[in-house]
Amino acid sequence: MKLARLGDGAEIFHTLQGEGVSMGAPAVFVRLSLCNLHCVWCDTDHTWNFEGTPWKHEKDAVAGYVKHKKEDVIIEMSVGEIAEVVRGYGCRRVILTGGEPLLQEAGLVELMAALREDGAEWFFEVETNGTKMPGEGFVSAISQMNVSAKLANSGMAEALRVKPEVLRGLVETGKVWFKYVVQGEKDVQEVLGLVDAHGIPMDRVILMPEGRTVEELDKSARWLAERCRDLGVRFSDRLHVRLWGDRRGV
Ligand code: SF4
Repeated sequence: MKLARLGDGAEIFHTLQGEGVSMGAPAVFVRLSLCNLHCVWCDTDHTWNFEGTPWKHEKDAVAGYVKHKKEDVIIEMSVGEIAEVVRGYGCRRVILTGGEPLLQEAGLVELMAALREDGAEWFFEVETNGTKMPGEGFVSAISQMNVSAKLANSGMAEALRVKPEVLRGLVETGKVWFKYVVQGEKDVQEVLGLVDAHGIPMDRVILMPEGRTVEELDKSARWLAERCRDLGVRFSDRLHVRLWGDRRGV
């Protein structure tokens, strides 16, 4: 499988879930490489913004930012090797993230099965952008799906980021939470339109402020929290940004 590389190994790390309905829970993150979208504010651009690609990113404006060499940011590992690293942390909540992890769905099904071979209770979450409907094997193995569906603020064309048949299928699994990154009221209105158009249950919607620093989060966190209260939906902060900032492997 192709994982994000961090130093000499893979980006597999033990931390707290930083976002969404499980925020604060200790978890092992397994970050896969590759994504089918290219969001302009993506904070894991090392999983897709490779040399030779045409994609734009907000960091293009930052002095010294260059696209990533694949050999610097991708590491190949077998399912067995990944399972061994995960087991080593002794924590049975595992977050399968990316990039877009469902691009490597078959390997993830194998990985969950390999970890469950010990007969213990494992809890698997996937962080997906909601544009790929996983098959039955994946849906029955996964415990929770955190769909970070993209809005227009991602810079992605609607036809790429909104797949009505996938959204319907995900809702039907009953395992899904929809998490939206919100920058302002325009985004809230867009979320409400999507909820209405695609039958997304409001009690499964989570709104989260955008920001890679505490200062950026604080620009809209209180406003958004109060907006969530009034709408009757959940608010999520970005705990990992508050605790550790914009760093990898935490
Ligand atoms: S879908 Fe997620 S990982 Fe992919 S580019 Fe957008 S924010 Fe980044």
